[in-house]
Amino acid sequence: MKTVTHWIGGKPFVDASGASGTWGAVTDPATGEVTARVAMAGAEEADAAVAAAKEAYATWRTTPLARRIAILFRYRALLDARRDDIAALITAEQGKVHADALAEVARGLEIVELACGIGTALKGDTSTEVSSRVDVASIRQPLGVVVGISPFNFPAMISMWMFPMAIACGNTFVHKPSGKAPSASLLLAELAAEAGVPDGVLNILHGGKVAVDALLDHPDVAAVSFVGSTPVARHVYSRASASGKRVQALGGAKNHMLVLPDADLDAAAEAAVSAAYGSAGQRCMAVSVVVAVGSAGDALVPRIVERATKLTIGPGNDPKSEMGPLVTRAHRDEVAEYVAGAAAQGADVVLDGRGFTVEGLENGYWMGISLLDKVSTDSDAYRDEIFGPVLCVVRAETYDEAIGIVNGSRFGNAASIFTRDGGAARRFQREVEAGMVGVNVPMPVPVGYHSFGGWKDSAFGDHRMYGSEAVHFYTQGKVITSLWPEPDRPEPR
Ligand code: NAD
Repeated sequence: MKTVTHWIGGKPFVDASGASGTWGAVTDPATGEVTARVAMAGAEEADAAVAAAKEAYATWRTTPLARRIAILFRYRALLDARRDDIAALITAEQGKVHADALAEVARGLEIVELACGIGTALKGDTSTEVSSRVDVASIRQPLGVVVGISPFNFPAMISMWMFPMAIACGNTFVHKPSGKAPSASLLLAELAAEAGVPDGVLNILHGGKVAVDALLDHPDVAAVSFVGSTPVARHVYSRASASGKRVQALGGAKNHMLVLPDADLDAAAEAAVSAAYGSAGQRCMAVSVVVAVGSAGDALVPRIVERATKLTIGPGNDPKSEMGPLVTRAHRDEVAEYVAGAAAQGADVVLDGRGFTVEGLENGYWMGISLLDKVSTDSDAYRDEIFGPVLCVVRAETYDEAIGIVNGSRFGNAASIFTRDGGAARRFQREVEAGMVGVNVPMPVPVGYHSFGGWKDSAFGDHRMYGSEAVHFYTQGKVITSLWPEPDRPEPR
């Protein structure tokens, strides 16, 4: 069986001298088989990773920008050449289909490309002669050792949201990926070393709560980037900020798609199906609620059924598959529970995916397409983040009622509107309480040079991921006021 180790100081690292860690099991979601054991760090391994990052910081922070940029360009080329290998690791441990895994790598590469332009992004501001012989310069400097903690659903992309920008800014990094899909991050670290990232600048530490808490409390960690579920985001935000660290913690989501009767309903149904069921709904940008206004509901539901029932569900490494399994058996069973309870809470169960399986792969974590109509906003399926291939349709009489439903959610990651009415779309953009908004676009994932983040329970901390906000998060400002005598210069009158 494969062993997935930590990566500390530029090489594989199994345990610290005291061996405080343990091992976790990695499974293939399509077969249910255990395919690897992954090292699970304790406090000693966390210490070793932070120590390696701290040592590397002393020289990395002053490594010339030109050299850092050259390394990042080499890294970009290596990642590009290994897209398929990274995607295969994602599929083997997370379960998503290869095309989705490749798309994930492509979105991660966008941020490496952004990091290649760090020279422009780090340029400071100068005001000369603010007073006689006095100049003022605003510069930004790195923070030190930064920690990044990521979820299972994007094993490569979310890592790439974090460390390329952090190290480009001159920080060193300890990355704690999800133990459910840990291998892609290790390949990312190996390729970084091959590109010339010095030992200790990027470290990978596997583990769960013990490792995370050790990092959150560590006095040598300056900042923490987190992406995961809302309860853990809240924990990370409060615990790390209590010890004085800078924190950005992105949480869960329940993304609404508001459909007005004047929308192109075929396009809306197509969008709902790909955004709700793509990657088996395990995307923080997935549409999990359609709010259908007036006559849109009766017209939309059959269109969604027609398209959703045509999706081919199967193992992610089969090119015919359009949707793969869920990540673990426990998660699959939790998702199924929501469908089981929906009818009793008033929903019409239009499609029930609980009985689905794949012949020959009956031990995989399969869940077919589920569609719940006329869902009550008091029900569990509506309120909770299900994170599976379950789409809820909520009916509303008017736009005002619909926007009230969208804004009543405790989550505020993304929201979209489908309409042909520019005025309604404009009003929605202004009124909706979400950090990312789509107009006739179901999953408005910002491109790399904008930035990513939600509102309300979907994000804690005031910095978003990537774009110019990453430069602000991973650096701190310094303003230098200087006065140099110029003996031959006449004093101004
Ligand atoms: P999770 O919160 O269970 O885990 C995230 C990370 O935290 C992992 O590295 C995990 O090992 C660690 N962790 C888990 N429990 C912990 C605890 N009690 N204390 C400290 N650390 C802990 O999330 P997940 O199940 O891996 O990922 C799915 C969730 O992530 C969903 O809620 C999804 O919406 C969210 N997500 C959000 C975004 C976003 O941008 N807002 C993006 C992707 C995923």
